[in-house]
Amino acid sequence: MQSTATFQGQQSTPALASAYENPLPVNEFNKILYDANQVFVRNHPPTAAFERAIFFGWHCAINDCKFCYMSTQPKEASGKLALRSTSSILAEVIITKELGWQSGFFSGGINAKNPKQFRELLSYVTAITNEKVWVNIGPIARRHLELYAPYVCGVVGSIETVNPAVHDFVCPSKPASPYVKMFSAADTLGLKKAMTLILGIGETIDDFLLLEKFIHEHRIDKLHIYNLIPHDGTYFEGAQPPSVEYQAVWIAKTRIAFPSLDIQAGIWEDKTEDMHLLLLAGANSISKFPALRKFGSSAAHEFEAEVQRAGRMMQGSLTTMPKRDWNAIVDALPFDTPLKEGIREKLHTYIKTMQE
Ligand code: SF4
Repeated sequence: MQSTATFQGQQSTPALASAYENPLPVNEFNKILYDANQVFVRNHPPTAAFERAIFFGWHCAINDCKFCYMSTQPKEASGKLALRSTSSILAEVIITKELGWQSGFFSGGINAKNPKQFRELLSYVTAITNEKVWVNIGPIARRHLELYAPYVCGVVGSIETVNPAVHDFVCPSKPASPYVKMFSAADTLGLKKAMTLILGIGETIDDFLLLEKFIHEHRIDKLHIYNLIPHDGTYFEGAQPPSVEYQAVWIAKTRIAFPSLDIQAGIWEDKTEDMHLLLLAGANSISKFPALRKFGSSAAHEFEAEVQRAGRMMQGSLTTMPKRDWNAIVDALPFDTPLKEGIREKLHTYIKTMQE
């Protein structure tokens, strides 16, 4: 790989200045995609979901991961909670359900809510979803996992990279070991385990062997695999994000090695061009598309066309608003009147935004 990208405040660290292009010659790339798709077809239904992660706030007690928007915030801001209202969160949960999107993880920065508040929020969310949810709130102690277990199907560990040197540099205050401990606790409670991986932050494709080992060792059920988004103000500002082909090679290798793994690929904002490659490589679902803001847009139509191009059937819709009696849906919720009224107001605001 060529060294072309430059980074603000660049420091000496493994492979950080590499451009992340397709690591394979065209014939090998086509072959690995073909093989991965064959494995996918044998082990999964021919569908693709849009997965919507729901964030309950933007607060982080760490705020120094080098790729993260939070790292651009002054340290003193990390102590200030920026939480969404419960009604806003629950309105989004209703939209996710009614549009047929897949519920992604439920997330907020580390220590954004105390365990009692978080459990209560989970109880509200699952009253709407009628199914347990994934949670991604940093390493969770076993005693807190027990508290959340009635509402949680699995935990997500923000591992980000399996290359130890890159991890030390990029996530200096977020070691992987507490997540590994959380995975062990999840095992004992019968919860599933997912991990995140961000590409383009200093790893090379050779690190796939480390990923394979990690997934085996910790019996990971689901992988969230994202390309770096080089946010302004972060260490990676100005970096060239990895190509879709680079991400597809990682996914294809993973699919071939783990036929039944749930693989969820994050795309870069509304960049849906060539998204079908990620599906052909074996991803089950796609996330990070700004579905509320871009609902019905040309990018949303392109998203659905890319799903078709990969030979999959789209679950739910990013372009067609279903006919629903939204007030009746709110009226039927098992919540008190003030909360229901708050949800109703937010829900109509979101729907108006989507329809506009
Ligand atoms: S812990 Fe998460 S929210 Fe906090 S800085 Fe790191 S990536 Fe960002």
